[in-house]
Amino acid sequence: MFRSPLIAGNWKMHKTLPEARELVQGIRDGIAKLSNANRVEVLICPPYPLLFPMAKAIAGTPILLGAQNAHEAVQGAFTGEVSVPMLKETGCSHVLVGHSERRQLFGEKGDRLANKTRAVVGAGLTAVFCVGETLAERDAGSTESTIERQLAEALSPDTPADRLLIAYEPIWAIGTGRNATPDQAQAAHAFIRRWLASKLGREAAQTIRILYGGSVKPENARSLAEQVDIDGMLVGGASLSAADFLAIISAVAVAKGG
Ligand code: PEP
Repeated sequence: MFRSPLIAGNWKMHKTLPEARELVQGIRDGIAKLSNANRVEVLICPPYPLLFPMAKAIAGTPILLGAQNAHEAVQGAFTGEVSVPMLKETGCSHVLVGHSERRQLFGEKGDRLANKTRAVVGAGLTAVFCVGETLAERDAGSTESTIERQLAEALSPDTPADRLLIAYEPIWAIGTGRNATPDQAQAAHAFIRRWLASKLGREAAQTIRILYGGSVKPENARSLAEQVDIDGMLVGGASLSAADFLAIISAVAVAKGG
């Protein structure tokens, strides 16, 4: 089954407005020159204040806009938070849910992430649900049980498959320069797809894209993307450079037959 590869850039808390404009201009120009760019989907996830100007900057291009987080309520007394309808208004089509930094630094887990996922898909946006184990969990042989718990906490048989992407991001690989090997990543992705098949059905599992994240660079993107269950990348650090991000986009397009 062909799944359109997706490369997402998570800008985290980086870029001023002028820097963001320069970056997105570089991505736009680069994509226009890539002969195989139409083989893949490209998503950028800037910080909240940059969403409106970035929506304007990518208008008329195939680049998609996403947010890095959302509150689960539609509105209310939640100082400092942003709701899914607000994100939708900016032009976001995707929202990251349960990124490991949200889990580790802000204590997000369980019901909270289930509610966020429900809020995102309920508003017609696509949730990019992030899972991944710590180094201690990997060393203890509990990679699969950790991923399984994280998936089970937030997803249910009625989660719409066409509004869901999974990102497998081993925490020990995020921002460390140490990526999972293609075999390690493929094994985790295959496990996730089997879990999706058992809970959401076989057809859903075949259509849901599973992204790999964790120190993706131009040098390792191709060998990771060649794995059958790796449907794209969630890129942190390397998405802050137009040249690197474009090289990753191109490598994924080549790996997927473009
Ligand atoms: C991320 O933050 O989702 C990520 C994968 O970061 P990096 O590519 O920098 O490891």
